[in-house]
Amino acid sequence: MLEAFARYPLTFGPTPIERLDRLGAHLGGRVELYAKREDCNSGLAFGGNKLRKLEYIVPDAIASGADTLVTIGGVQSNHTRMVAAVAAKIGMKCRLVQEAWVPHEDAVYDRVGNIMLSRIMGAEVELVDEGFDIGLRESWRSAIEDVKARGGRPYAIPAGASVHPLGGLGYVGFAEEVRDQERALGFAFDYIVVCTVTGSTHAGMLVGFAKDGRERKVIGIDASATPARTKAQVLDIARATADRVGLGRELSADDVVLVEDYAYPIYGVPSAETKDAIRLCARLEGMITDPVYEGKSMQGMIDLVRKGSFPAGSRVLYAHLGGAPALNGYGYAFRNG
Ligand SMILES: *Cc1c(COP(=O)(O)O)cnc(C)c1O
Repeated sequence: MLEAFARYPLTFGPTPIERLDRLGAHLGGRVELYAKREDCNSGLAFGGNKLRKLEYIVPDAIASGADTLVTIGGVQSNHTRMVAAVAAKIGMKCRLVQEAWVPHEDAVYDRVGNIMLSRIMGAEVELVDEGFDIGLRESWRSAIEDVKARGGRPYAIPAGASVHPLGGLGYVGFAEEVRDQERALGFAFDYIVVCTVTGSTHAGMLVGFAKDGRERKVIGIDASATPARTKAQVLDIARATADRVGLGRELSADDVVLVEDYAYPIYGVPSAETKDAIRLCARLEGMITDPVYEGKSMQGMIDLVRKGSFPAGSRVLYAHLGGAPALNGYGYAFRNG
């Protein structure tokens, strides 16, 4: 579905799929759990899902003649860290707007983890006192204007690389890659569990899996705590992406399965249950998930398995999208393990 689009390689290649045998057995053994390790997809600053999206955006950035990538996120944004890494790799400058999306407890929150890595990679980091919003932001527009005023040539990438005309393509590719891996494995997955916030990861998967009728088997676990907006943004991006790749059919709101039950208390703050899920997965599988995104989708998958939401014998694929560097900003939450 992506042959017509230029791709700039930023990842190692297809990501491994591994069985989560001990977690599956712990939860009763009724379903088989697997993880697709998008968190291990690249040598660029610890990798993660944004790189798959950026592979289809970078050719456009280079063709535009830009010299500076400009983007936005929260203080511990994984996306801004990955844009900083990409800018370094392709020889551009990087300007990051980091907003106060998360009320935090750790004194070092704006010094460690993702934001520290972005600074080390040479990005110009601007801390802005604005709250959480997945849409297009004024602070981002003014950063773009500022780069221009200083004689730079900015290339603007929205939050999460989502509301960008090419932002959905990377995860169409994920679905194609899963289909290839399923051929080698000799079976197909019944469900794909994915964490959803700015929406283009979920949206790309919808389009990619719609090709073989599995769009409603993509179970989005909301971590935004603004699910109505997130759901609408997933549908918008999925429709635009479906047009772009020529899917040949219309996607509807019912195709966007978004479970709203695990984002509490708010974006970026882990509940007690999220922390339990992070510990359980770490202690049974040695697999690290973070308090903002993957810990919430892990909590969701565990709870859905416990409630019997997946029929017995189902094969469930957890898309591990990365995010572990943010854990450094949550030392207080895990001070006792
Ligand atoms: C950005 C991100 C997500 C959410 O992906 P969206 O495409 O923004 O919905 C999930 N997990 C991690 C680790 C992320 O960095």
